[in-house]
Amino acid sequence: MRAFWLVLVALGLGTKRHWHILFAILAGIVLGLVYPIAHGESPQFIHQFFGIVGEIFIRLITMIVIPLVVSSLIIWVSSLGDSRQLGRMGGKVFTWFLLFMAISSVLGGLLVLMVEPGLRLQTDVRSFAGVTELHLAELQATPPDLKELFFNMIPVNPLEALATGQMVPVIVFTLILGVAIANIGEAGKPMLGFFEALFTATMKMTDWIMVLAVPGVFALAFGTVSRAGPGVFVELSPYVGVMIIGLLFQVVVLFPLFLKLFARIKVMNLYRAISEAIMVAFGTASSSATLPITIACCERRAGISNRIASFVLPTGATINKTGTTMFESVLVIFLAQAYGLPLNGYNIAMILIFAIIASIGTAGVPSGGLITVAIVFSSIGKYDMATFAGGLAMVWSIDRVLDMCRTVVNVISSCTVATLVAASEGELNRDVLDNQDAWAEVV
Ligand code: ASP
Repeated sequence: MRAFWLVLVALGLGTKRHWHILFAILAGIVLGLVYPIAHGESPQFIHQFFGIVGEIFIRLITMIVIPLVVSSLIIWVSSLGDSRQLGRMGGKVFTWFLLFMAISSVLGGLLVLMVEPGLRLQTDVRSFAGVTELHLAELQATPPDLKELFFNMIPVNPLEALATGQMVPVIVFTLILGVAIANIGEAGKPMLGFFEALFTATMKMTDWIMVLAVPGVFALAFGTVSRAGPGVFVELSPYVGVMIIGLLFQVVVLFPLFLKLFARIKVMNLYRAISEAIMVAFGTASSSATLPITIACCERRAGISNRIASFVLPTGATINKTGTTMFESVLVIFLAQAYGLPLNGYNIAMILIFAIIASIGTAGVPSGGLITVAIVFSSIGKYDMATFAGGLAMVWSIDRVLDMCRTVVNVISSCTVATLVAASEGELNRDVLDNQDAWAEVV
């Protein structure tokens, strides 16, 4: 144990700041495993203290997401000039998003059907009580009504959507407002200037807030792991294993394949360029909260133009969640296996399609995917959520750690699409991407 800390400190000292974030996460995980809160092996006030530190960090970065999304999208739309360009580029971006989510859903489905983790559990999920009722009530509180989901995209009151942080309606309103500003000529200039200044100021705030990144991610990782404890991980290892393999496959095979084929870049350079975003995504389990850092990494290091980054990344953080798509399809099929419920080909096809719809509707916040999984359950009508209550409670208890992993994949996937689109539009500055020595500090 002492050796671990010595190595950690030795590596941590004298390296770049982004490594400090990784060391902080590692230290948080190890400490959380050594001092699980449930066993009362560490004083309560320590957990409370780190709880406060983590909360402050998450709140500060989340605080700038709305102004950042609004200002960057307005700048992007206005820079396009006419609405035909908006349609062309929007179409390209959404095609990539959909393609990656479809591949992830099918891949997840194939993996879980092949490995059958649901049949490998030691405990009978039906007997796992946990805090079942509470979880179920939380899940059922969000009605998985698709029609409502669709109508909610158009905000009747944009200020309310802004105030309550509903990202999809905010994006819809902002895009239309941006087109209007671009269309009123001189009269729109002061407004555009305002949003340009807002964008620059929020990026400055990001730099300031990131000073807190190291203690922030340490506190979050420690809190998460110490709460879950190692026991359930061992029990659920077949499920956790399938999930991790699927997510890793996306990062190691799927994205690099497309990046090599269509953008012809050195993939490791891109991953290095966005390493801070990856670590913050892992620490916070929120792709929305990570957005300011994702934008900073893509623009300052990956050589992606502001025009592309300011559109693809905010929309990606809201819509494009390939990690979550895989999670949704794997979880539902896994639970059906664990409960011994037969699924026919039609059921499986519906699960894979609804996993995409559900992940599009997932907010980029911790455990967002656990709530929208109700939508996927609705696709196999004959069973309702209550059928799976015990299994859900069990999965819920360790979900935060998997959530950290799938959020990383969500963020990498959006950066991949940003790179692909930038390359195809001739807006990828390869000199910046390949010249690490000249990279600006992000954190
Ligand atoms: N935490 C994920 C994100 O922010 C969403 C989820 O899958 O729960 O991207």
